[in-house]
Amino acid sequence: MALVVYNSLSRKKEVFTPINPPYVGMYVCGPTVSGESHLGHARPYITFDVVYRYLLHLGYKVRYVRNITDAGHFEEEGREAEDKISKKAQLERMEPMELVHKYTSLFHWAFRKFNTLEPSIEPTATGHIIEQISMIEDLIKKGYAYEVNGSVYFDVAKYAEGHDYGKLSGRVIEDLLETTRTLESQEEKKNKADFALWKAAPPKHIMRWKSPWGEGFPGWHIECSAMSTKYLGSYFDIHGGGMDLLFPHHESEIAQSTICNSHAPVKYWIHNNMITINGRKMGKSYNNVIRLTELFSGNHPLLTKAYSPMVIRFFILQTHYRSVLDFSNEALEGSEKGLRRLFEAFEILNSLPGGENREGTAKELDTKINSTLDELPTFLDDDFNTAKVLAAMFEIVPTINSLKEKIIPVDALSSKTIERLKNDFHVYLEEILGLKNEWEVTGAFKGVMNLLASIRKDARSKKDYYTSDKIRKELAELGIDMKDEKDGNVSWGLR
Ligand code: ZN
Repeated sequence: MALVVYNSLSRKKEVFTPINPPYVGMYVCGPTVSGESHLGHARPYITFDVVYRYLLHLGYKVRYVRNITDAGHFEEEGREAEDKISKKAQLERMEPMELVHKYTSLFHWAFRKFNTLEPSIEPTATGHIIEQISMIEDLIKKGYAYEVNGSVYFDVAKYAEGHDYGKLSGRVIEDLLETTRTLESQEEKKNKADFALWKAAPPKHIMRWKSPWGEGFPGWHIECSAMSTKYLGSYFDIHGGGMDLLFPHHESEIAQSTICNSHAPVKYWIHNNMITINGRKMGKSYNNVIRLTELFSGNHPLLTKAYSPMVIRFFILQTHYRSVLDFSNEALEGSEKGLRRLFEAFEILNSLPGGENREGTAKELDTKINSTLDELPTFLDDDFNTAKVLAAMFEIVPTINSLKEKIIPVDALSSKTIERLKNDFHVYLEEILGLKNEWEVTGAFKGVMNLLASIRKDARSKKDYYTSDKIRKELAELGIDMKDEKDGNVSWGLR
């Protein structure tokens, strides 16, 4: 079966055919490092990490570019916003690059905890001022940008004469161009819909670069056009980001690149949906923005406890990336239990004897397990449906638990099926979904725990209940449960 992806540009699912196989170019809009990452950032970078991992699994050679926005002038919904880095640097009394370093490091730290793979290239906006200036010069030369008082704007009305501005986001150009001017500093623009490519720096503005139009700083959209073209060429396979970037950011990227390169820049546009919190949109005005550091520590009024990065990753992947994902403590607690159940099943699988060429005694069960495993790649091929992969894996868990409890004899399944289960759990859970067993105990600690379990077993067989109870009670206080199995062995686990 072929991989099918939903393309935001055509608004339908399309068979994924790379421009130059086996190479795939993927660009994902990275974070603005003017502050700490929050829950809303976790979704795109985890989503595209799985897209990246799955493409690698399919054998593609992927160049994954994810930028760092460390400068720039922002426009949201056609409304001018300021340079967030400069503003925050003044607020925190830091050098802008000191601020950028602090939040870039925090971003990397959090996403290492989420077990996301490093992108192939992580370019910064400030490292590509020259490329941005030359692209702006090209736009002016071609008649699609104009300079006013040291600032340069993209001429949306001119572009709309020959192109469909609004094609990606579904915005109607007539609405965007309507002439009722709102206040704010839009007097310079020919049209409300025009967006800044370069802004003249006011005297006190700290981040500034020399340009043909005087000292200033770049607009936000131009950075992604300049860097994606530089590293992936003028036509590349995948451009991704959160749905909130459809307009104006990605729409404007298309316009800029289309003029500079004489054709549209991207084959497949992929967007993840948003995260709501207890049914509400996340936003400062609702007081419900939860930073990643707060999630990991549980230190936020909306949180009943801390949640580990793997639980959050699992929670995100339990919903298809194009559906709205609602955050609540109950949902997260459910994810925590679910993830643990899956990895416990994986541990049981790994402890089952394999190797010998045994036919299974329960043919029907064996066939059922195999056909469930057959479905895993088809779910991912269907627009990266991680939710269905996890649901299918959960269907197998009761069988695995029954093997452990010996409700189903181990020889019910063929040794081939047991090996396949071990392999598929590893490939799908760990390699493709990027999940890790946070409860797994290894090394010296594992040895010490097994020793204590064996001492308890001996003590019980000698009726030395003082020793056996002491071990159980004191470990329970440390959050470790000992359990006497039916066969007389003692097992243990972290709570
Ligand atoms: Zn971008």
